[in-house]
Amino acid sequence: MLHAPVFDGNELQYVSQCVSTGWVSSVGSFVTRFEEMLREITGVQRVVACSNGTSALFLALKLAGVETGDEVLVPALTFVATANAVSHCGAVPYLVDSEPVTLGIDCAKLRSELAESTRVVGGHTYSRKTGRRISAIVPMHCFGHPCAMDEIVSLAEEFRLQVVEDAAESLGSTRDGRHAGTFGRVSIMSFNGNKIVTTGGGGAILTNDADLGDRAKHLTTTAKVPHAWKFYHDEVGYNLRMPNLNAALGCGQLEQLDRFIAAKRDLASRYIKAFRDVDGVSAFEEPRGCRSNYWLNAILLDATHVSLRDAMLKETNEGNIMTRPAWELLHQLPMFRSCPRVDLSQAESIQSRLINIPSGVSVAERHSQIPTRGS
Ligand SMILES: *Cc1c(COP(=O)(O)O)cnc(C)c1O
Repeated sequence: MLHAPVFDGNELQYVSQCVSTGWVSSVGSFVTRFEEMLREITGVQRVVACSNGTSALFLALKLAGVETGDEVLVPALTFVATANAVSHCGAVPYLVDSEPVTLGIDCAKLRSELAESTRVVGGHTYSRKTGRRISAIVPMHCFGHPCAMDEIVSLAEEFRLQVVEDAAESLGSTRDGRHAGTFGRVSIMSFNGNKIVTTGGGGAILTNDADLGDRAKHLTTTAKVPHAWKFYHDEVGYNLRMPNLNAALGCGQLEQLDRFIAAKRDLASRYIKAFRDVDGVSAFEEPRGCRSNYWLNAILLDATHVSLRDAMLKETNEGNIMTRPAWELLHQLPMFRSCPRVDLSQAESIQSRLINIPSGVSVAERHSQIPTRGS
């Protein structure tokens, strides 16, 4: 696997505690503890643990005010879930370009495109092309590397957009000392099996807006009004709460986050050094001012070596070294083919030149010089 999980802390102990006490489902002390730990790590005010990252993003978008028929700005270079969540809201992804320094949304380019193709009416931005309202922007911190959030936040203010961060991949990453997922109105994280920390399947909504946090908690728990025995629900809610069993696994994992990040940053620096002397290719380095979790390491071929990508993928996979190309860009997928989009030439270039290479903690620690748990 590109990123296999490692469970050599308290995971098993915590999970069996759930089983032996009977607290396996959506109520239990590990859920609260997991949320508390995430609050401490990220410095955010409110955390609501959810069943997965996709549904967390769906609800975060709704709570940020995305409505049926809106358009939402999404990078074309992202995992499909980013756009799926927009569609689940009845909104339409508006695909935008990325830049090569952060692998995130190219803000300068987007600003001039929006200036030309939108108009502001009554405090909202509308597309001149489609007539639809553009209500939000979803920066995604690609492979754990934080986007240029200062620029994105000021662009969002200029065009009256809600900022909903897809921080699914960036637990433990900071920009200017501030944790990814704390710059926008609301953000989400994922704890799927391939992420830096896993709960088996899981996600979370993070926000500094207390009202939004309350709404997230209420809606993820069937909109039940707390009461000692009565089942009273005051609106159509969802069942998106993280089960205690999953949170128990996650608590065991979060306890080791610092160690995971140290190992992964050490691996990244060795990749960067190793590829420095290789012609035509370089290992991707965190943007200036950022401290990245290096969730997935990536190498980038020079434009003149693009044709070697598929041969490299074939050779490495046949040799039992797992490598993968970047995601297909969203406009190449049948369900998003007709989405509005701008020029995507940089995303296309990055996609054609990028290869993800093994990045898991066990790979990192196998050849590491830094002390590990066992040594
Ligand atoms: C993993 C991921 C998600 C979705 O998370 P799930 O928990 O798998 O639903 C969303 N966006 C990005 C960028 C991701 O990498």
